[in-house]
Amino acid sequence: MKEHIKKYDLILDGKRLPSTSGKEATIQNPANGKVIATVAEGGPEDIKLAVEAADRTFRQGPWRRFSSRERSRLLFRISMMIRDHAEELARLETQNVGKPIREARDEVQLAADCFQFYAGAIDKTGGQNAPVAAPGVGLTFREPIGVCGLIIPWNFPITISCWKIAPALAMGNTVVVKPASQTPLTALRVAELALEAGIPPGVLNVVTGPGNLLGEAFVRHPLVRKISFTGSTEVGRNVMKAASDDIKRVTLELGGKSANIVFADAEIDKAVHSAVWSALGNAGQDCCARSRLLLQRSIRDEFLTKLTDQFKKVRVGDPLEENTELGSLISKTHRDRVRSYVEVGVSEGARLLCGGDIPTDAALSSGSYLSPAIFSEVTPAMRIAQEEIFGPVVSVLTFETEEDAVALANNSLYGLSGSLWTRDIGRALRVAKSVETGVLSVNSGQSVHLEMPFGGVKLSGVGRELGLAVLDHYSEWKSVFINTQE
Ligand code: NAD
Repeated sequence: MKEHIKKYDLILDGKRLPSTSGKEATIQNPANGKVIATVAEGGPEDIKLAVEAADRTFRQGPWRRFSSRERSRLLFRISMMIRDHAEELARLETQNVGKPIREARDEVQLAADCFQFYAGAIDKTGGQNAPVAAPGVGLTFREPIGVCGLIIPWNFPITISCWKIAPALAMGNTVVVKPASQTPLTALRVAELALEAGIPPGVLNVVTGPGNLLGEAFVRHPLVRKISFTGSTEVGRNVMKAASDDIKRVTLELGGKSANIVFADAEIDKAVHSAVWSALGNAGQDCCARSRLLLQRSIRDEFLTKLTDQFKKVRVGDPLEENTELGSLISKTHRDRVRSYVEVGVSEGARLLCGGDIPTDAALSSGSYLSPAIFSEVTPAMRIAQEEIFGPVVSVLTFETEEDAVALANNSLYGLSGSLWTRDIGRALRVAKSVETGVLSVNSGQSVHLEMPFGGVKLSGVGRELGLAVLDHYSEWKSVFINTQE
């Protein structure tokens, strides 16, 4: 029986439309290589149409005239639509990205929570009455920026789409979303649901297509007033340059090589469990992955014995199976790139404790799987200690003192996330303040909390997502002084 392949169009000015060129791309399930959908392949001309529609809507449409309460109700309705379609969206995400269904379900809930959070924030986010020295009244207003260009990576498509769309809309902007070409399905589906929820046409547009073909036209378009990009540091750097010509606002969420620091006084079993899942969630294709494990020397051997044992027990398999813990990587090309780092580690003299193999199980042969790997005896100068591998590979380094731990953690071009494990509150605070990173968890492997700002320092990016802080990145402050002197 021929499987039904769903066809997805661009979402442009409230309509589902084919690309101007008529071209379509096929979307594959990386876990088995099967084609699951066809998607309109947009080009620069479609970006132009979408940006013009978003700009027209921003200037003329009803969106800006909506009261804060009306906008809040709409965002809340979108969150409910996502919840009502949660299982459909989770399965779509799993089939498109190859991630375990349990992870996809959590991510869909986070996407819904995100709309709910910003729906609640809208009518609590106003300007101020500033106590100016001059005779008069100082008022500040928070105004939308205009058209925001949102560029999404392939690793967390629905979550990252929603954590950009929701705050941008909350502040009254209109948006054009460009998902990664491999993983456009859930962003398109969320946009369809938002239209059903009653969002006016032209407020939320989605253009799919390869970044190298339409990215430049998008970032350089003069009507785009802000770019929020999540992706690799390499592409992010070019985005920043291209956005600089007309001084666009830019937020960049880029790569990472986050440290997981475990002191000898930590609760070892909890730290081991977290070291597994904060490195292997989404098969390690996570900008926040704790891919550098820094162990205090006195606990290293015990820790590594336990960690290796748990890595070997991780259930690698079909992402749609309920008990699968590690799914497929995004593609064979990416899997082979990650695998090449296993060879780099071995050639650099690190010790491979487990994994790094392509599973030979026939059921997995058409997917892009890799067994999770641990390298010990890693030194800071090695490539596997410095470069973002973006797969299920952990590099273990050893330290003696608290100062050594901080120096090792900071010996990185990146600074996105990280964890530290200790029962000493003084040490926890000292180290947390000294590690150069945007996000840090003490005795936890969790990086993302909707309620707190998220983002990186150094090559991990600029600006923040989430929390109330992101609202500053999607609005302009306007100061109005009213002279009251007679
Ligand atoms: P990528 O940089 O290859 O692509 C990201 C997005 O940019 C895609 O939509 C792509 O089509 C688009 N793009 C490509 N070329 C472009 C151009 N010239 N102009 C404009 N857009 C262009 O990244 P990826 O491979 O999709 O994602 C993996 C990377 O993303 C990793 O480095 C990871 O660490 C990073 N990431 C960071 C965060 C974070 O919050 N810091 C979150 C997730 C992923």
